Amino acid sequence: MVETMDTTTFTPEETMRLGRELAADLRGGDVLALYGPLGAGKTTLIKGIAEGLCVADTSEVRSPTFVLVRAYEGRTGDGEAVTIHHVDAYRLTGGADFDDMGGIDLFGDSSVCIIEWADRMADGLPGERIDITLEHVDPTTRKISISR
Ligand code: ADP
Ligand code: MG
Repeated sequence: MVETMDTTTFTPEETMRLGRELAADLRGGDVLALYGPLGAGKTTLIKGIAEGLCVADTSEVRSPTFVLVRAYEGRTGDGEAVTIHHVDAYRLTGGADFDDMGGIDLFGDSSVCIIEWADRMADGLPGERIDITLEHVDPTTRKISISR
């Protein structure tokens, strides 16, 4: 069964707080697929998640547009060490491209994988994941829908 939660945020800080709240329940092996256009707040939400996962320097958290994947070291709510893999799939054309990145265990048990533009790698996404869609309502309002 898919469980969906809709939230509206009115400032970037509220979106970051939502990210910190989400982070509390994350564990190694979790995959978050983010959808929504440029400026929707995907990276802002991920900054909040990184804070919640105790990443020491969240100024490192920015869209990995040119490197495809960024990695941050963090810790889950139950104290387990995890690597956060922050992926930007904007330039990918499908799962095969994604597989070509190779070498990195993006979806491993000791990582939390968060993907911006997840629709660009639809067939490369694991079935078991959390989908998060962000929509612009007005310049500072975002509707954020979380399904798991
Ligand atoms: P994306 O990664 O989806 O392209 P970013 O998080 O990089 O989006 O950018 C979102 C922009 O929108 C930032 O400049 C942020 O300050 C602004 N913003 C305004 N209101 C909000 C909000 N409620 N939530 C998130 N970002 C917001
Ligand atoms: Mg971004």
